[in-house]
Amino acid sequence: MKCLHLLVIVLILSVPALAQKSRVLPRVLPPDRIVDLTYAFDANSVYWPTAEQFKLETDFEGMTDKGYFYSAYRYSAAEHGGTHLDSPVHFAKGRHTVDELPLEQLIGPAIVIDVGGQCASNPDYLVSVADIENWEKRNGQIRAGTIVLLRTGFGKFYPDRKKYLGTEERGAEAVAKLHFPGLDPAAARWITANRSIKAIGLDTASIDYGQSTLFESHRTLFEKNVPAFENVANLDQLPAKGFSVIALPMKIKGGSGGPLRIIAFL
Ligand SMILES: [Zn+2]
Repeated sequence: MKCLHLLVIVLILSVPALAQKSRVLPRVLPPDRIVDLTYAFDANSVYWPTAEQFKLETDFEGMTDKGYFYSAYRYSAAEHGGTHLDSPVHFAKGRHTVDELPLEQLIGPAIVIDVGGQCASNPDYLVSVADIENWEKRNGQIRAGTIVLLRTGFGKFYPDRKKYLGTEERGAEAVAKLHFPGLDPAAARWITANRSIKAIGLDTASIDYGQSTLFESHRTLFEKNVPAFENVANLDQLPAKGFSVIALPMKIKGGSGGPLRIIAFL
């Protein structure tokens, strides 16, 4: 009997602990697998041909005269390069700057639409409404609040500018020589009109394809305050659905975009 009492007491004591555990665990426990969708920033990071490259300079590195090691560096770069976020104000006046983006828009369930086959034979491929519809035929309708990732397969070329961008030249004249896939403006119009997505990203340097001159997909998405993630890494490690993304850009006050740390957890 005494034993039973003890058992009851132990059970009673452990109930709040269990309840607390079940509330807290799903939020803090490491998920089964975390995939880093971010390229490290260095001198080879891919930037637009006209943009300032990432630069890291040493302020101090080594032993101090007080006998301890110390290192500190300073960096500079354009907002749009490496793995980064385009904020809506990048192409739409009055829309969200990067610091204004609601956090809930940058965190959520995500999907991958794989167009690697189409892009392998055509570097100017435009991800179409049909590609989105085909994904939905296999996986069901894209749910409200989804973060959409487009896998063109070009990520495997990063940071080889010749293969990834179509040219390794820099400067204004290089822009016309860019060849990489992007989102068809018609698909940008379709998805903003028919689905309620939080954000969209891809494994190329721009949500509009390399040959774009009017950046219509940017303009359509950003008009609706849907941000874009560009130069996203490791999309080949993700399934078509059933995972979540956290994509937190540097919070530059009034910025049109910025370096992005983006991860997926499966
Ligand atoms: Zn950008």
